[in-house]
Amino acid sequence: MTDLLIRGAEVDIAIADGVISAIGPQLESGKNEVDARGLAILPGLIDVHVHFNEPGRADWEGAETGSRAFAAAGGTLFFDMPLNSSPCTLTKADFAEKCRALQRSSITNFGLWGGIVPGNHAHLAELGACGAVGFKAFLCDSGLPEFPRADDLTLYEGMLEAARMGLPVAVHAESEEITKALSNRLIAADRTDIPAFLQSRPVLAEVEAIERASLLAREAKCKLHVVHISSGRGVTAALEARSRGTDISIETCPHYLFFTQEDLLKVGAILKCTPPLRCANQRDVLRDFLQRGLVDIVASDHSPCPPDMKHKDSFFAIWGGIAGIQSTLAVLLQRGLPLLDIARLTAANPAKRFGIADRGALQVGNKADFVLLDTAAPYTLQPEALLQRHPVSPYLGHRFQGVVRQTYRDGELIFSNGKIVTETRGKLVTPIHAKSGTHA
Ligand code: ZN
Repeated sequence: MTDLLIRGAEVDIAIADGVISAIGPQLESGKNEVDARGLAILPGLIDVHVHFNEPGRADWEGAETGSRAFAAAGGTLFFDMPLNSSPCTLTKADFAEKCRALQRSSITNFGLWGGIVPGNHAHLAELGACGAVGFKAFLCDSGLPEFPRADDLTLYEGMLEAARMGLPVAVHAESEEITKALSNRLIAADRTDIPAFLQSRPVLAEVEAIERASLLAREAKCKLHVVHISSGRGVTAALEARSRGTDISIETCPHYLFFTQEDLLKVGAILKCTPPLRCANQRDVLRDFLQRGLVDIVASDHSPCPPDMKHKDSFFAIWGGIAGIQSTLAVLLQRGLPLLDIARLTAANPAKRFGIADRGALQVGNKADFVLLDTAAPYTLQPEALLQRHPVSPYLGHRFQGVVRQTYRDGELIFSNGKIVTETRGKLVTPIHAKSGTHA
């Protein structure tokens, strides 16, 4: 018996036991029925890159508020990065601790990244066995002493191990040698303003790191996922690596598509992130790659912090991270992308790349994760609409079109017309990769 029937403009979707049981015109009524004619139906967002910082730094966000904000934005499954929780996710015990914490607090489903740092190589296999979606490494200083950057050998050997398990390695691609030396030089000359920060992290630092990581991944026969590519040249470097045989996926974030470094100069700390926002030309080339279908995944990289960490005398000392989890769909709709492309960037490609077998697309047999979207409704983002812990977002005051009316996770309504409406919790989602044929 169908539990829920969504009446769409062209087809209906029937849901039984949290799974899509039928899609077609004029399906028979279910126990409950929702009239979604006039609304678009998209797969629930799979955000492969968030920092909810739980356990240990839930005062920065936490999954309780983070997952609510995510659900309000059409999200049903997020992958939490191995930092800035405390402990960082570097061992099986860290993984279990984070999993327990998120099972208590998250209203959406979640996957967990493990980390690659010097010295934790022996723990990668157990992290994979726990169900990690992949491994994240920093090629430059992460800002957290307990998550040191991966030198080339650490990264390469981590990639060999990840390849053995069929899991991807994600890299924050900026050259430590370039960014560190430029930062030190500028700070020594008493240059700690925003232009100095921008100078310290040039596009070249991103391109060099993408090329190096691509070479190592190709040698290791490892899937490489480059997170938050900030520039057109960064995407070009990744595409060139693909043409040479690297199995590489390209992620960018809404803020790199929406803002430029001129906005950073005007707005300041809430737009500080690394790699930094770029000039209008690089932003426009990035937009063009997106439009042409050459970007694989758009993820929020939601990375909030307590507001006082955004107030320091030196711009270099200000915490880098943009809190924008509720604006991913808004930015993509503003780019005028067809809904099918948006679904591919935010759900289908993430599911495919990370081995999430039964989510990411509206098809019979998949889990019923979806969002009802009023694409015609305009709004201006106001602080009271933000469900995250600190109502800070660079998108506040901006005008968008496309309001999320409802979000369903596993067939259950979790967000409806501005309010969280569930008392239940999400669960850990683990990948299935071709290499092992079983849960990784
Ligand atoms: Zn991040």
